[in-house]
Amino acid sequence: MSVSLVAEHSAETDAAPAEHLDETHAAALVSWVPSARGHAEFPIQNLPFGVFSPHGQAPRGGVAIGDVILDLAALAASGLAGDELAEVTAAAAAPRLNGFLALGSDARRRLRARLSALLREGAPERASVERMLHRAGDCRMGLPAQIGDYTDFYAGIQHAINIGTLLRPDNPLLPNYKHVPIGYHGRASSIVPTGSAVRRPNGQRKRPDESAPSFGPCRNLDYELELGVWIGPGNALGTPIGIDEAQEHVAGLCLLNDWSARDVQAWEYQPLGPFLAKDFATTISPWIVTAEALAPFRVAQAPRPEGDPAPLPYLQTSRPDRPAAYDITLDVLLQSEAMREQGLAPHRLSRGTTRDLYWTVAQLIAHHSCNGCNLQPGDLFGTGTISGRAPDSFGSLMEISRGGREPLTLPSGETRTYLADGDEIIMRASASREGFTTIGFGECRGRILPALS
Ligand code: CA
Repeated sequence: MSVSLVAEHSAETDAAPAEHLDETHAAALVSWVPSARGHAEFPIQNLPFGVFSPHGQAPRGGVAIGDVILDLAALAASGLAGDELAEVTAAAAAPRLNGFLALGSDARRRLRARLSALLREGAPERASVERMLHRAGDCRMGLPAQIGDYTDFYAGIQHAINIGTLLRPDNPLLPNYKHVPIGYHGRASSIVPTGSAVRRPNGQRKRPDESAPSFGPCRNLDYELELGVWIGPGNALGTPIGIDEAQEHVAGLCLLNDWSARDVQAWEYQPLGPFLAKDFATTISPWIVTAEALAPFRVAQAPRPEGDPAPLPYLQTSRPDRPAAYDITLDVLLQSEAMREQGLAPHRLSRGTTRDLYWTVAQLIAHHSCNGCNLQPGDLFGTGTISGRAPDSFGSLMEISRGGREPLTLPSGETRTYLADGDEIIMRASASREGFTTIGFGECRGRILPALS
């Protein structure tokens, strides 16, 4: 089947350059997998990689297509991917995808092209490939890779302003913000895949009106809506990644919920920053939506507002023609226990966009490695909470409830400032552009269990 490119849709000045687009992006492409046609998240133009376990079986690599998952271990065993892709397919079929992430964009692009050919309408291999599909609803999703290191940034400037306003109304944004991408080293061991329960942490907390701290369940449990970044090849210790090469080290993206114990955080964070308020759990969506799948949804980074400092040279690309930002829409929904009992659908708390990030992912990578720090395949970044200017785009409850002062009302009539036990937070994301097929990320979902007594 021949599919022509959709280059005529690149007329917008900020759209992805045609060099990054190929026939796997064509809107005319359809899969022989019935549920993939018109699928809101996993049409044949997406093809995200993950690790799944079919019922009662060992974990292995897979690709989401419609409501099913293509078993890459079965594909590797069949030889259908072809001799020249045997090693790449084996790496993508492994129960941890670190080896696949290490291979970089050329290997991903070649495997993606082959998968697209095998899954498209008219593929002669259909009967064989059909036997390698598992219903996604029958499978358990795991983490896509062994995460060596996890770093959380603070690249959402409106979130920084909103939080800063609560703490320092006269001077919300600290003077370093527009010069240096702020981040901290998080904890990789407590990153969990979607669907994992999250236990309310115990910890030290002290309200401003209390004279001494106490130990007990977090009182102000929050979420943070973030984009997760899966690092590809990475760099050797001592060898920084230049800003113009940084994009080559992005294997793909996911959704990330940086669960946050605000009361613990307020007491512990000075002077060294986040610690136990953050590392009890971080939930991610299970699919690596690849840099290749996201190519049509790259856009120019918004120009810095008048008066903002220019980034230092090591954070300035010499290729401004290459779109450095992503146009991804992100939703946060909440469903309480009472809402579940009453059959009420999850309630949307906010809708944000990655266009609101002040620093690009490439800048985060260049900055992280500028001192020689080595990034490794399967490392994970959080961008920082993504918030817009309007209250319905705020990416955390601390912002929505103005520090716990203004409760919101749920469809059940319940109110919330922070999360209650039994609450479930669901994050979703999608990328759309005229002339292209919309793709999604899959859910990032977690439910709060009561604290241990
Ligand atoms: Ca965060």
